[in-house]
Amino acid sequence: MPVYADVILPLAIQDTYTYRVPDEWASAAVTGARVVVPLGKKEVSGIVYRRRDDLPSSVEAEKVRELTAVLDTAPAVTEEQLRLWQWMSDYYLCPIGDVLAAALPNKTLDRQFSFDAPSRRTKRAHTPATETHPPYPLTSQQARCTDEIRQQWQEKQVVLLHGVTSSGKTEVYIHLIEEQLQEGRQVLYLVPEIALTAQLTDRLERVFGGRMSVYHSRVSDTKRAEVYKQVLNHGPGRLVVGARSAVFLPFRNLGLVIVDEEHEASYKQQDPAPRYHARSVAIMLATQTGARVLLGTATPAIETQRNAETGKYGISRMTERFAGLQMPRITLIDLNRQYHRKEMYGHLSDPLVERIREELGKGKQVILFQNRRGYAPYMQCTQCGSVPKCPDCDVALTVHRNLRGSYMQCHYCGYESALLSACPECGGEVRVRGFGTERLEDEVAQLFPEAKTARMDLDSTRKKDAYQEIIRSFSQHEVDILIGTQMVTKGLHFDDVSLVAVLQADSLFNQPSFRSYERAFQMLEQVAGRAGRKGQQGEVIIQTFDPKHPIFDYLGRHDTDDFYRWQIQEREQFRFPPFVHLITLTLKHRDERRTEEAAEALRQRLTAAFGNRCSAVMQPSVTRIQSLHLRQLQLRIERNAPLGKAKQMVREILRQLSSTPPCKGVIIQPDTDPM
Ligand code: ADP
Ligand code: ZN
Repeated sequence: MPVYADVILPLAIQDTYTYRVPDEWASAAVTGARVVVPLGKKEVSGIVYRRRDDLPSSVEAEKVRELTAVLDTAPAVTEEQLRLWQWMSDYYLCPIGDVLAAALPNKTLDRQFSFDAPSRRTKRAHTPATETHPPYPLTSQQARCTDEIRQQWQEKQVVLLHGVTSSGKTEVYIHLIEEQLQEGRQVLYLVPEIALTAQLTDRLERVFGGRMSVYHSRVSDTKRAEVYKQVLNHGPGRLVVGARSAVFLPFRNLGLVIVDEEHEASYKQQDPAPRYHARSVAIMLATQTGARVLLGTATPAIETQRNAETGKYGISRMTERFAGLQMPRITLIDLNRQYHRKEMYGHLSDPLVERIREELGKGKQVILFQNRRGYAPYMQCTQCGSVPKCPDCDVALTVHRNLRGSYMQCHYCGYESALLSACPECGGEVRVRGFGTERLEDEVAQLFPEAKTARMDLDSTRKKDAYQEIIRSFSQHEVDILIGTQMVTKGLHFDDVSLVAVLQADSLFNQPSFRSYERAFQMLEQVAGRAGRKGQQGEVIIQTFDPKHPIFDYLGRHDTDDFYRWQIQEREQFRFPPFVHLITLTLKHRDERRTEEAAEALRQRLTAAFGNRCSAVMQPSVTRIQSLHLRQLQLRIERNAPLGKAKQMVREILRQLSSTPPCKGVIIQPDTDPM
């Protein structure tokens, strides 16, 4: 009797490809095995999804080809992983091949790579074990939380640790991790962006030393393949600290998943597919493996807080900061008044300049936060008002003025051009408008020539260790003023920072998204958390044109619960998540008319199937990126509707439409739970 295998290949075309298994590989080509198969004139490697005795009806027997080889003696992918991949493919509306491509380090799809050969790490003779230290003893608040969490895990799979900034959440994690490792189980510790966690890995390494691996996109592909192998081959008792892709590792004995800073938007993969949220995938992973989940944050996502409120998740709270530190004091500065009275120096108000001067005088450090990189977000003609745009994207070019010189750059595609000396439309004078971190750095240097400053944004941290170096020099007080984008808001601890200033808060909450206030509140509360570490109460100065905005009331009281009550009511009233499920479909094509026609055809089909759950055709806030015109449709599925069935219908509609005009050749990207 012939044996067949359905194989997943790292291609986004169809889910699986069927091959005949020759006798010599019959016993090796099991589910999860890494195999080489012919595809057209090439050979590619993939993973056996399932074996079968007969062919699917859609496949003709004479067209079936034989698989070429099985690469290892044991499966490289576990059955649990395959179940998770399948769930992701269904939930995020993408071919399972997309999941495979995201899940496996490239190297592991290399024919030469072997899961059988001993890894280089174990071959290397006796690397000295790093010295480790026991965890710090817990404070009474931390001990209470640890008990509460353990207790709630008896009944609930997911527990939220809601602890104010600097309450010592990491120490709670460390104790819970240690317990799991002692019992021989694996622990996954997810962090939003590992590049930003140098301080964290140091703290974990101090306790866990050689029992810990790090897995994220800045680790080389070869190293990631080694970690994958390590987890696969001798899994027990290991801690993996990783960014979102670490959810794909082949855990066999997972006891605990920690999702640190669970509210962070960077847990969501935007591009390419699968457009997954690592928190959701982590919870599904834990459901399938029986592991417990701990979500930690000072500013929970609205969805998470909702789940805690309804009792779906457990919750434990820490309201006190470590070592009796007070919460920072928030002071607002009304920019309307400051500009009106001409009490500004560049983009810093006089009272802010005064406070910075005082703190520097006392030998303290200051953080200045402006959530825009570059020198200025755009240029504008003073006569006709036109703004230079990217030739390929519908966005203004950002002005940069840094060590590389002065130039304009598109933040969507990287296009660059020289600064304009005159308006190309009318010959008028062009001026820079608004300000980013580079301009702020200039202004600060002029105001405080004796102070040492550093800038931390995407541009200043591109080089390999640049980020660590900035953190190091600021922690060691070689720098007095740190200027940065949202990078400076993340989980950093500096003992001498007494003042944090937000230069322009308004741009944070004036975004066209139902998450706009949530994001702004989280960002402001997190940046505030960097102030006042040792000894005295820290201060946060926020410059804004809208000081009466309700967000500042909640922020001033650090009242995340009240903020939540306000937001959850709006979400319910206007039917946004968590009260509905959202699926966005983005259409892309070079020709605008074709994009429109395809969007209209899709809208008609979706409306026929889903009625008014389908939106009208929408223009996204940026309507063209890299020469492709964009349109969007959105589905709102009520919570009690069968979501799985709805997704099947969407997939079927997409499958039918994609082979005929006007959708043929138009890219259609589904996004489940868009951010
Ligand atoms: P969070 O993650 O809640 O912001 P951290 O866990 O980073 O807070 O703790 C804040 C600071 O307090 C860190 O510098 C940490 O080393 C210190 N800390 C917290 N708990 C303890 C403890 N039990 N013993 C000693 N130091 C602690
Ligand atoms: Zn561009």
